[in-house]
Amino acid sequence: MTRILTNAPVLVTGANGYIASWLVKQLLEQGHQVHGTVRDKTNTHKVGHLLTLADAFPGQLTLFNADLFNEGEFDDAMLSCEYVFHTASPFIIRGLNDPQKELVDPALKGTRNVLASANRIDSVKRVILTSSVVAIYGDYVDMQNINEDVFSEKHWNTTSSLQHQPYSYSKTVAEQEANKIHTSQTRWDMVTLNPGLVLGPSLAQASDSTSLSTMLELMDGTLQTGAPNLRFPIVDVRDVATAHILAANTASANGRHVLVASSVSMLEMAKTIREKFASRCKLPRWEVPKAAVWLVGPFMGITRDFVKNNVGYAIEFDNSKAKQSLGLTFRPLAETILDHAEQIIEDGLV
Ligand code: NAP
Repeated sequence: MTRILTNAPVLVTGANGYIASWLVKQLLEQGHQVHGTVRDKTNTHKVGHLLTLADAFPGQLTLFNADLFNEGEFDDAMLSCEYVFHTASPFIIRGLNDPQKELVDPALKGTRNVLASANRIDSVKRVILTSSVVAIYGDYVDMQNINEDVFSEKHWNTTSSLQHQPYSYSKTVAEQEANKIHTSQTRWDMVTLNPGLVLGPSLAQASDSTSLSTMLELMDGTLQTGAPNLRFPIVDVRDVATAHILAANTASANGRHVLVASSVSMLEMAKTIREKFASRCKLPRWEVPKAAVWLVGPFMGITRDFVKNNVGYAIEFDNSKAKQSLGLTFRPLAETILDHAEQIIEDGLV
């Protein structure tokens, strides 16, 4: 792979996260000086894996404390950096008490704070923003209103709100805010990445990412009586990390990039895992009828509106821009799913 043309340090916000940890690892492997922000660098439960990486790459990784809510906290970490990878933002779907405080505020205020630092720190040349496909669509049923077979970079989520799909809403308003701040200045440019549901082995042991809970629930017996007919647009965590580096390395890169290898149902994922690890986990074998999901959904933290607008619908994405303009190759889905399943089993999580 090409190398970012800089000897200056690069900044990764939320460096301990599921996606960011792979990004930090790949950057270190390529010889970069990496500045990583975390909420508390003395919290070994959260950052232990980064400390292990720091030992493996002596002198290359420096951690800084910075909270998305606090103005100016990203300045120190950003000093002398040319590339800023802004990944930090909560990815929590269920069990929310106050979506404004838990999702929208950190996504939106965090984006403002990180990009205000980029405006203050003269060395910054490019920001790579980790958005999501959920800034492109709100519900699977929205596919019927676009008069096309696939969602792509030109589409925007217009149906999510604080009350319905608040995580999707948080990513949409954060990406829109980033665009506004980006176009109000000319020193740094911005490349946006819109990954689907990211799966694959985790380096982070204490991430709250819904990626990890989704895969765990598929394997730990929670869905043994059956899975809803839900198709996920999947991408491998290692490919997402690589896409971030390609987005920095490719001078001509600009705008949004859909990162989805392909879409797959929960039962198809279970089938792939069963072929290799049948005796090691408790996988769903049957599909639960939509009416039954609608009935029990609220007891499992899924709203009836979500069930109505998503279960049983297909969803597809056009990933050609990421392939062509970044030169990204998506690894086969089976490799992503099996590597992730293997890690869950090896770690004794099921
Ligand atoms: P993750 O492991 O939970 O990472 C989220 C990161 O954000 C963590 O480092 C977390 O720190 C940090 N963060 C949360 N609130 C913060 C705050 N107030 N101040 C500072 N840092 C804060 O989740 P992930 O899956 O890697 O997600 C990373 C990014 O990718 C997010 O922007 C997410 O929206 C985006 N994304 C994820 C997926 C996916 O399927 N995973 C798909 C598309 C886009 P703590 O560990 O201290 O909480």
